[in-house]
Amino acid sequence: MKSAMITGITGQDGAYLARLLLKKGYIVHGALRRSAQPALTRLQALGIAGKVQLHDFDLCDENSILRLVRDVKVDEFYNLAAQSFVGASWDVPVFTSDANAMGVVRILDALRTFAPQTRYYQASTSEMFGCVREVPQRETTALYPRSPYGVAKVYGHYITGNYRESFGMHASSGILFNHESPLRGAEFVTRKITLGLSRLARGGTDPLVLGNLDAQRDWGFAGDYVEGMWRMLQQDQPDDYVLATGVTTPIRDFVSHAAEALGMRLEWTGQGTQAKADDRITGKRIVEVSERFFRPAEVDLLIGDPAKAQRSLGWRATVGVRELATMMARADYDAAA
Ligand code: NDP
Ligand code: GDP
Repeated sequence: MKSAMITGITGQDGAYLARLLLKKGYIVHGALRRSAQPALTRLQALGIAGKVQLHDFDLCDENSILRLVRDVKVDEFYNLAAQSFVGASWDVPVFTSDANAMGVVRILDALRTFAPQTRYYQASTSEMFGCVREVPQRETTALYPRSPYGVAKVYGHYITGNYRESFGMHASSGILFNHESPLRGAEFVTRKITLGLSRLARGGTDPLVLGNLDAQRDWGFAGDYVEGMWRMLQQDQPDDYVLATGVTTPIRDFVSHAAEALGMRLEWTGQGTQAKADDRITGKRIVEVSERFFRPAEVDLLIGDPAKAQRSLGWRATVGVRELATMMARADYDAAA
């Protein structure tokens, strides 16, 4: 029976990955940081809260990582924990760097010392491409991060490759483009949209207030992406892989897709901060824009080329953006009943 450690098990990807590994017969360990009220809601939502063994640790506390790696021996170690919200990374840049950059080398060095045979997965991100140097972005595209989050993740990405080359560790990075689900954090734009629209569809009157509607993202379904993570660690050789759908969509269109799933037909007017959307059917104001949600530096366009993952891992995204928006909007609408 194989065993795995998942850091960030309380997060979106941690929950889906835990469910996938349990289905595959793994013993699943989860590492989480202490909080007054442990956030097990995602594990509960998937019906697996009692099926994983939980351990305390913190990316910013080296001793807790050393103890975790020394005491809990596993075949595979998935490092999904991070300060994962780009927007917050300008508010807490030092914490973001400590967790997302130094946290990675703390884990890798503990593995090198106590468990060098353990296979390691690093949660790298399309945010590393930032101000993109190539369209679409692939494993070889030059990096140009645009936020403290992206900069810290670049360090995590490079140190993973460096430990692979320096010490022969089976350490792989998944360069994952945005992936969403009904379990996505409410601060990310897709979930903010589906939660806001569900409230409006249930009779709410406060418009959804967003920032830059023109940014474009390559959005897939988180359930598909955790399968790709697992496949990376089943390869004989460690490597880096882009996971993406290969399709990019402006924020504005994601709003329209989600609204349509809830029976609204949006009419957009204005540009930039003057943009707004009303429901053609009811005349209700649905979307407004505020400077408040614009970022100090933006990532305008992300679109990934998943050819290598398709070729080497036999992986492909199975859920398109319209289906994803519909899935998330309906889940939020039903939950608000
Ligand atoms: P979430 O925000 O849902 O989960 C992040 C997890 O990290 C949570 O379990 C959180 O714990 C934990 N965490 C945060 N800080 C610490 C810390 N100091 N010590 C220990 N644990 C901590 O993110 P996702 O599941 O969406 O993403 C998983 C990983 O993939 C992240 O590394 C993210 O940066 C990366 N990624 C995500 C993408 C996406 O589109 N989802 C795209 C590309 C990369 P708590 O519950 O206590 O907050
Ligand atoms: P990111 O790609 O990891 O930054 O994921 P997000 O979901 O946080 O943001 C995706 C894009 O949506 C970015 O270009 C944001 O600028 C844009 N966006 C527009 N309005 C909002 C908003 O209200 N909240 C968030 N989180 N993003 C917004």
